[in-house]
Amino acid sequence: MIQYCNYDFNTLGVNIVPIYDTSKAQQLSNDPQIINSSLSTFKKYFPESYLNSKSADLGLYLGGYDSIEFEGVGSSGGYDFPCLCRYAWAQMADDPSTYDAVLKDRAVVTMHELGHAFDAAHEYAPNQTETYTRAYQFYEHNRYYQTVMWGCFMKTAWLQFSANDGFYGDANHDNSRRITETKGVVASYC
Ligand SMILES: [Zn+2]
Repeated sequence: MIQYCNYDFNTLGVNIVPIYDTSKAQQLSNDPQIINSSLSTFKKYFPESYLNSKSADLGLYLGGYDSIEFEGVGSSGGYDFPCLCRYAWAQMADDPSTYDAVLKDRAVVTMHELGHAFDAAHEYAPNQTETYTRAYQFYEHNRYYQTVMWGCFMKTAWLQFSANDGFYGDANHDNSRRITETKGVVASYC
């Protein structure tokens, strides 16, 4: 999954280098809070001091359950929230929605949540200050496809951030630009 994410992240000068830790998997899945407060529960077991001890900028929890937090298949602390900005989780389990947890689905949600850590945003983003930070939808071969930051999970989403290249986006749909602007901040988290 990380390899798929890196195809586009690498073009933006970001290389996701995973360090895997399953030592607290049992504790996490035994914690009843994991279902409805996935992100803060994850942080409880992996505080910032832990991330720093591993020289990790971000912590991503790959949860093997159908979380009901925000009723989605992942979430992120986002870029502007100091408390949780280094944390994200992605659902690795199938659920009743169109999300099937096959490799491509998992890669899309993983890349999407990591994108939020770099301030990449959905196609709608009423509170955002940057007008250009938006996901994009394009029409090809008689159907619509979406860039990876599309707000709700779509089977037709591509492992690609919007970009001002006339295909994946334009000057108003350019998550790629935002990621190149914020990557230095994310890299300085630890
Ligand atoms: Zn999102």
